[in-house]
Amino acid sequence: MYMADKTLIGRLNKCSVNTATLGHRSTIHAVVDNVARAGFGWIAPWRRDIEGVDLKKLKRQITDAGLRVSSLCRSTYFSAETGEEAAEAVEQNRRALEAASELEAKCFVLVVGGLPNNSRNLSSARQQVFEGISALLTHARRLNVPLALEPLHPMYAADRSCVSTLKQALSMCDAIAPHDAYLGVALDVYHIWWDPEIYEHIVQAGRAGQILGFHLSDWLKNTTDMLLDRGMMGDGVIDLPRLRKAAQQTGFDGPFEVEIFSRDNWWKKDEKIVLKECGQRLQSCC
Ligand code: ZN
Repeated sequence: MYMADKTLIGRLNKCSVNTATLGHRSTIHAVVDNVARAGFGWIAPWRRDIEGVDLKKLKRQITDAGLRVSSLCRSTYFSAETGEEAAEAVEQNRRALEAASELEAKCFVLVVGGLPNNSRNLSSARQQVFEGISALLTHARRLNVPLALEPLHPMYAADRSCVSTLKQALSMCDAIAPHDAYLGVALDVYHIWWDPEIYEHIVQAGRAGQILGFHLSDWLKNTTDMLLDRGMMGDGVIDLPRLRKAAQQTGFDGPFEVEIFSRDNWWKKDEKIVLKECGQRLQSCC
């Protein structure tokens, strides 16, 4: 079936700004205003942005500005050295879900953790993640906030995520709760672009209605830092339109969320300039 190519031209209302893109320099209140003024329809705050903030007031400000919350970032790592710490992680994530619920976030992003200290046992870390997500899912249903499991590039398997591919994330979701509207995945192009099996698994996830988030940035060929040197869309080597289309062809139509960690470049620029560039690149490079 022929499907029109739904580019993001003129559709910033389908796009979101993850606040990490702006380097967490201003208050969340100032960021909300700037994101709305730049024409976006969505925003994705981090937990650190909303600590000590009156969430009812913030939600009102977000709504009045014409925005919605695409996601709350992100979970405390589930993998832990002891059973007590693993239980504490679930408890912290439950509290974060309450905040996500207050903000009516479309999902809560799960970055699950790598190896616990003094461990070489990846399978046991993955088992902890499995159990942690299973425990959190009950709260997700009660609070009406879906959990978006985000596979991270394998270079982070030791310290950030023992879930490295979309295939692995999808099979973990299926093992925890198949066909559950409160459990799906977040696709982040920075983490998945290299995967030779990515397109078949995007189709699988999309057809099952499991794509809950789509994060955009770019992979700089001469990257200087594996965490904090993400590129602006169009400055790197990722085939962004192909990935965007693959998700759309399964029925996913946003929000498309810009998430750029860029300590030495974009985080040093004026927030309004960064937002303007994000808006332009979403329309010209994605
Ligand atoms: Zn992401």
